[in-house]
Amino acid sequence: MTVEILADLLPVSDSRGWHRAACRGDPNHEAWFPYPSQDFAYAREVCGRCPIRQDCRRFAERTGQSGVWGGQEFDRGSMIRE
Ligand code: SF4
Repeated sequence: MTVEILADLLPVSDSRGWHRAACRGDPNHEAWFPYPSQDFAYAREVCGRCPIRQDCRRFAERTGQSGVWGGQEFDRGSMIRE
């Protein structure tokens, strides 16, 4: 089974800017879906240099996403860690 990276999961039609996602092509798939006790410094750093992080966060909130989006961790659309 092929594990898709976060940018692959993003609906391209939802925003004009997803092709600029800093996580596009990132090989560390697990880093975007950390365990509760696991730090996510790696994903936070990548998001920190992403030009669309504001849109990314709003998308996560609006569509109930889990995992790291825009440098923050979400659980079903609610921010739980930053
Ligand atoms: S803000 Fe982070 S998760 Fe969102 S597209 Fe950019 S790098 Fe990916």
